[in-house]
Amino acid sequence: MKNYIKHHPWNIVEEGFDPNLNRVSESIFSIGNGKFGQRANFEENYSGDSLQGNYVAGVYYPDRTRVGWWKNGYPEYFAKVLNAPNWLGLDIKINGISLDLAKCEVLDFNRILDMQTGILYRNFTAKNESGITLTVATERFCSLATTNLGVLRYSFSLDKKAEIEITSYVDGTIANADSNYDEKFWNDIRTKSANNKSLLICETKKTAFQVGVLASTDITLNEQDLEWKDTTDSKNYAGIYTTFLADKDENINIEKRAIIISSLDYDKAAIEDALNKIAIDLDKTGYDELKNKQIAAWSSKWNESDIIIEGDVSAQQAIRFNIFQLNCTYSGEDERLNIGPKGFTGEKYGGSTYWDTEAYCLPFYQATADSHVARNLLIYRYKHLKKAIENAQKLGFKDGAALYPMVTMNGEECHNEWEITFEEIHRNGAIAYAIYDYINYTGEQVYLAKYGLEVLIGIARFWAQRVNWSEDKHQFVMLGVTGPNEFENNVNNNWYTNKMAAWCMDYCIESLTWVMENQEDDYARIIAKTQLNTEELSKWKNISENMYYPFSEEHGVFLQQDGFLDKELIPVSELPASERPIVEHWSWDRILRSCYIKQADTLQGIYFFEDQFTEDEIRRHYNFYEPLTVHESSLSPCVHNILAAKVGDQKRAYEFYLRTARLDLDDYNNDTRDGLHITSMAGTWLSIVKGFAGMRVKNGEVSFNPFLPDKWESFSFKIRFRGELMAITVNKSGLNIASQAIAPSR
Ligand code: BGC
Repeated sequence: MKNYIKHHPWNIVEEGFDPNLNRVSESIFSIGNGKFGQRANFEENYSGDSLQGNYVAGVYYPDRTRVGWWKNGYPEYFAKVLNAPNWLGLDIKINGISLDLAKCEVLDFNRILDMQTGILYRNFTAKNESGITLTVATERFCSLATTNLGVLRYSFSLDKKAEIEITSYVDGTIANADSNYDEKFWNDIRTKSANNKSLLICETKKTAFQVGVLASTDITLNEQDLEWKDTTDSKNYAGIYTTFLADKDENINIEKRAIIISSLDYDKAAIEDALNKIAIDLDKTGYDELKNKQIAAWSSKWNESDIIIEGDVSAQQAIRFNIFQLNCTYSGEDERLNIGPKGFTGEKYGGSTYWDTEAYCLPFYQATADSHVARNLLIYRYKHLKKAIENAQKLGFKDGAALYPMVTMNGEECHNEWEITFEEIHRNGAIAYAIYDYINYTGEQVYLAKYGLEVLIGIARFWAQRVNWSEDKHQFVMLGVTGPNEFENNVNNNWYTNKMAAWCMDYCIESLTWVMENQEDDYARIIAKTQLNTEELSKWKNISENMYYPFSEEHGVFLQQDGFLDKELIPVSELPASERPIVEHWSWDRILRSCYIKQADTLQGIYFFEDQFTEDEIRRHYNFYEPLTVHESSLSPCVHNILAAKVGDQKRAYEFYLRTARLDLDDYNNDTRDGLHITSMAGTWLSIVKGFAGMRVKNGEVSFNPFLPDKWESFSFKIRFRGELMAITVNKSGLNIASQAIAPSR
């Protein structure tokens, strides 16, 4: 755990420069606007440890899978969100020496991410190799108001007169650090620099996405415009160059703005024209105006999604950080986009979509933005239904059975880790559950008729084919699966998966009835399209009524899977600290044989289907499983927080909250350098709203059952709920709710 980020209610602050922490800070200070985003790399050259990262939403590359022995069913590729052209580049030479903080004596340094406005600041004073001291102030943002725009201001002065050379560039010669075969993924299409502009268009290999960047850079010396003298274009690199003399203390100010668009939104043939057209409009807009629009756009985001915590600055900073990053990652305007576990902050998990979206993220966007934002996450899966059916076919399923991928960009399965991910078919359940969750929350039942039901039918069909009748048990069983707990592979009758499967079939039948009774035309269309027959429904009902659930009479709990009690049940508290996390210290074989649970598994089911259990049953399951849980997935603490709060274990609920809220800020798992845990950030929000405030939605009504953590004076947040914006405050004297009507959702 690290503890170098200064506490502040709105700002993330780093003081002093420690090159060993640079990669961690690059992750923490990441910014984005839902369309593109970037790690907090320096604009000038940096030869120290760094992961340069710029990412454009939806632009990916199918990197060839890397496995030892190929088996049928392996995905052909592992998709990667691509490290895209770097639009920030500035090479600053002072008397011929490139500014590079790794080679300077850094006298003073701070980085500030102002989360209220989404602006990243950096100030430093550094003495370079030839003894010249520079004083630098930078600010930059990925515009939330104009989501194809990145803006940078970079000002500096020197303590001595010197010859300065500046190159402002866009660099497409980048590679993904996680490339399986060290390949580069971009082809050069066009580079052209002239006057103050640099154009770069490049295309991904195989997927042929084009990204176009047009950067305009203006430079002044003591407020006098300077001319660019030359261009420095080469393959996949576009730059402009100037040189001049600056006196001691003269101010050099560089303003750079980059328009970033892709072939997801523009015809390839029109990209260059589109960039030029946008640039003409932008050229009329001053820096301050762009900045003011950015401030206003974030202000309206915060107006609905902020959580205010009084009495604990560290908790306040943490929850805002989580909300900020969630809003940087996904804005919900484009149903082709989704939420990678690392968002735009790193390459791990390839930027692909996991079950994290449905199981963890959906409730945040559902409650803090107009309904279309969450709905687009569901439509994303609806649009992938055909591919999910093909995916199931590849594995031997038929007749419209759909198996959604565990990891995907375009609906195709593209995970990289067969042993773990392949059998995690429970993701189908989370996708169905999200439809239920969305409708339960928004009341938009008609979603079933338009989109949801077809998905539910495909999923129900899959489960019906995936179970088999056990002559021995005289019940239906499900063999060879991996539950959410990835520390068990290929188990029989994972309770969570069996439960989900049965629930999906019931919910599908229920939804069919609703559509039949309320949306006749859609019903007829869907039946014709899916060729669904009544025999299938009876089969689903039969399976759901006769599903086998492993249960222990002795402990009074459902068992995570068959044979769970054969394990040595030694609580995590007895594991030596030196062996934690076990994933880094133990062999995989030892982990699989152990009783240790990576993340909520049976408890994930109890969390989803809470209403089906008494409080006593919930407590019993929580008390049985939590002590065996190592929480080595960042998705784990939030579910435990909610259940702990539910059963009145407020102390543990708060401990779980702390583990999720500052996970990245304090680098608990020593992995923030790879990027932030974006999807688990939604879990932090859940911990406050469903955990501490006890929010539940049932039968069209929202209710709360709050408690206030001891350290806090109060906490308050807003939710959108069925045409109202509700402001909820929990303080020492209880709960207060103020409501105001809002415009109907889109
Ligand atoms: C978790 C999965 C999750 C994935 C991506 C894994 O460590 O076990 O549940 O989907 O990370 O966040």
